[in-house]
Amino acid sequence: MTQANSPVKTGIIGYPRIGAARELKFLSEAFFREEIAENEFYQKVHALRKSNLEFLKNSGLDSIPSLDFSLYDGILDIIQALGFIPERFQNLGLQGLKLYFAMARGYQKNGRNAVALSMKKWFNTNYHYLVPEYDDAVAPKINAGFLISALKEAQEAGIQTRPVLPGPFTFVKLTRITGSKSASELEETVTALYKELLLVLAKETGIAEISLLEPYLAKDLSEEDCELFRRIHKNLISAVPLRVYLATCFGDLRNIISAIPELGYSGLTLDLVEGKENLRLLDSVSFKPGFELGLGVVSGINIWRNNYEKSLETVRRVQEKHPDAAIVITASSSLLHVPVTLRNEKSLPEEKLKYLAFAEEKIGELRDLRDILNGSSSPDVLEKNQELFKTPRTAADTATENRVKNLQASDFERQPVRSERLKIQDQAFGFPALPTTTIGSFPQTAEIRALRKNLRSGAISRADYDAEIRKHIAACIKEQEKVGLDVLVHGEFERNDMVEFFGRKLDGYIFTDNGWVQSYGTRCVKPPVIWSTIRRTAPLTVDIAGYAQSLTAKPVKGMLTGPITILNWSFPSEDIPARESVMELALAIRDEVLDLEKAGIRIIQIDEAALREKLPLRRADQQEYLSLAVQAFRLTASGVKPETQIHTHMCYSEFGDILKSIDDMDADVISFEASRSSLTLLKQLRDAGFETRTGPGVYDIHSPRIPSVEEFTATIRKILDILPREQVWINPDCGLKTRGNAEVWPCLENMLTATRKIRGEQA
Ligand code: GLN
Ligand code: ZN
Repeated sequence: MTQANSPVKTGIIGYPRIGAARELKFLSEAFFREEIAENEFYQKVHALRKSNLEFLKNSGLDSIPSLDFSLYDGILDIIQALGFIPERFQNLGLQGLKLYFAMARGYQKNGRNAVALSMKKWFNTNYHYLVPEYDDAVAPKINAGFLISALKEAQEAGIQTRPVLPGPFTFVKLTRITGSKSASELEETVTALYKELLLVLAKETGIAEISLLEPYLAKDLSEEDCELFRRIHKNLISAVPLRVYLATCFGDLRNIISAIPELGYSGLTLDLVEGKENLRLLDSVSFKPGFELGLGVVSGINIWRNNYEKSLETVRRVQEKHPDAAIVITASSSLLHVPVTLRNEKSLPEEKLKYLAFAEEKIGELRDLRDILNGSSSPDVLEKNQELFKTPRTAADTATENRVKNLQASDFERQPVRSERLKIQDQAFGFPALPTTTIGSFPQTAEIRALRKNLRSGAISRADYDAEIRKHIAACIKEQEKVGLDVLVHGEFERNDMVEFFGRKLDGYIFTDNGWVQSYGTRCVKPPVIWSTIRRTAPLTVDIAGYAQSLTAKPVKGMLTGPITILNWSFPSEDIPARESVMELALAIRDEVLDLEKAGIRIIQIDEAALREKLPLRRADQQEYLSLAVQAFRLTASGVKPETQIHTHMCYSEFGDILKSIDDMDADVISFEASRSSLTLLKQLRDAGFETRTGPGVYDIHSPRIPSVEEFTATIRKILDILPREQVWINPDCGLKTRGNAEVWPCLENMLTATRKIRGEQA
């Protein structure tokens, strides 16, 4: 018989900061527009932060996090706190909040100019962090005032918290060295700074403990990485008068678990949802008595009710193996990645809502699990939860399931092979050299947004709305003809996003009113939820595409979102395997592709903007994901005639390592973002014998700049130095929906003038 554990507690390592009504977003935007002063901004931020803390305290959470409430991004907080200020921000005369937001958003004022820090996906989530830069001018200096005041604020409210900061190892691994400093200089600097930062925090606020969040540990770590991690943490822990807790998420600790017991932590938090292996890994280590084990059994990244029975089984297994451990029930990651509360969901019926849990409800789940384990819960809490999982949530759709089951190898093979069909297409279209096109969307002006709003509020009828949208399409087609693009688009005025638009027209999705999740800074997304089997019951875009094509003799691209992107930007079901949902989505898109073709659309673009996003962190799992993504894409496109041209688009250029898979998607043409760095990618494409025709974006749509004809000419020449002319398309690097018409048309005109010039030179 094993000895009983001490009572189980609850804790989390992060809570959404945007607020139930996206207060932080609107507050920040008002501040950016200078509608409210810094003082007022701070006051309101404090109120929001305090109400979060009070909610957590009142809901009985045992360990309440602090410092997780970032005004923009947690990594940016560290950049600011360590004084990792790159050269271009040093002489703007900015400090404090102004400097902080300048790094986040770029600065352009009084003739001074600094491009924002770049943003990257936070591991396998849809959240973005700001990339720290270490250039030779960085002169680190601890600047902890804003962290100290956040801690004091909690103390003054009488709320005891455990501060959580992104850890030094993850910070070092994510930092881009842009000057001549070495990796070991970076390591030494960061270690020394963290030490100093923690000492300052302890001295100024009297905190006795801290959690360091090290998500990087869930990636494949080399022996050197492990060494680096050990060195940094050992060094730090021995130098600070604090209990240090190591928090991890997004996967398992297979490379590092054995090193953890000897590093002197007071506890470890593990992800037991995405890090399935962690349960087994825990068997192989032992910790000193009283060591705190945070068990992330409630998903921090998805929105379904927790299955208590399963979680309890997991926790009991750990309790048995680690009878002396202090067990804390927690979420698998920060709750930042889920929406705030179900309280404001008015549209979904109770039979659906009862299956969902957002951040607030998840805090309740942690409490339930704790009370059940401690024997202080009434039996109906567990029973009520078990009810949810007794019977399947939805009825089976055997027709669709059978369609997926009966897919044949030939459904994934387009005929004839690409080189053959490209010849057929070249003949059929007769494009000039370097064909020109855009990625799909044109500016979503205030006028267009107002139309949508009026439709929603009932101020205008559906018919009036459709008629207005058609007017915009017609005007856009005319303008595109005027600048002389070869392949036109309808402009996507009827959609404001790439997933919800399709989700709303498919069976199997549900939508929340307020299920917002922070994507970066003030930008939030509201992912639709895959509720059941996905099925297309009617055409999705054929009307509009057909209308646009009827206005011009030039080809107009049909514009669709690909299956992997739709899945990655949704909350997936937890009962339906991802493969199943992806194939269902692929079949729906395939049916749409064939209907578009029937309606006379000769070029169809299937965007896979988010293909890279959910690439598993571990190399061992990547192949399976990629092959699913490739299969799904091929399924959408393989039914078309040889002369129908299939395009795809990706919003980034980081696919040097997955080139083979991208080429295997077997599209005819791909467009993607191409900045300076992707000249390297172009060389890789060339060297790998990449066969897909390629449109490396020649213009950065994320910036309001209008490149000159000369600049376009130089960019195109550079591309043609690397890739053969027959392979190249000319296009912007992403959709134009976020830009204004005043910039877009001059840009396209310059792009076309440059292209014509080069065609002339090369003819
Ligand atoms: N076709 C979409 C557009 O042009 C693609 C958007 C994207 O790649 N993010 O807006
Ligand atoms: Zn894009």
